[in-house]
Amino acid sequence: MKLLEERILKDGKILPGDVLKVDSFLNHQIDVSLINECGKEWYRLFENEGVTKILTIEASGIGIACITALNFGVPVVYAKKSKSHNIAGDCYSSKVVSYTHGHTYDVLVYKKYIEKGDRVLIIDDFLANGSALKALIAITERAGATVVGAGIAVEKVFQEGGNDIRARGYRIESLAKISSISAENGIKFCD
Ligand code: 5GP
Repeated sequence: MKLLEERILKDGKILPGDVLKVDSFLNHQIDVSLINECGKEWYRLFENEGVTKILTIEASGIGIACITALNFGVPVVYAKKSKSHNIAGDCYSSKVVSYTHGHTYDVLVYKKYIEKGDRVLIIDDFLANGSALKALIAITERAGATVVGAGIAVEKVFQEGGNDIRARGYRIESLAKISSISAENGIKFCD
């Protein structure tokens, strides 16, 4: 999506470790009209999929998921991060390796919020190595629900998550696909 790519070029900052900082419009301060355009685009792409729930992960996925959900007219469920080792039996849980912080944590969803028969669209801000997306897919499938696909704002295609998950047969629609990031050459997008 041109609008998102242009904003990344204008306001994105490159940090060490191939991290793109977009906190002036996506994951600290949020440009709601830009995210609304993202939501409309994911609706155009997935409107015929019979989506019944949108699933994301706290914290930065929540805002974009909520705006997207207005288009679909369905609830948003967000997986909660937990440091607790005592995970209650009424939750689905899965492990995530944090790309930006390096540590591992559990994410939880109460069983009553994703059920057999749900058709789940997963929304997240970034796709890098795919740990967060894999955890959300695992939770959805453990619930007996169907993953209709994933809508990602920024995919760093030079990291392997997207290719790996697509190869397993999942549909991923990323609105900005970055082919490389470097201090010398800046941010490049896939054609
Ligand atoms: P993955 O699990 O695919 O390795 O990483 C995805 C998660 O890590 C996203 O939910 C996002 O919060 C975070 N993340 C990964 N790469 C970046 C990045 O370049 N910039 C920012 N701001 N977050 C990132």
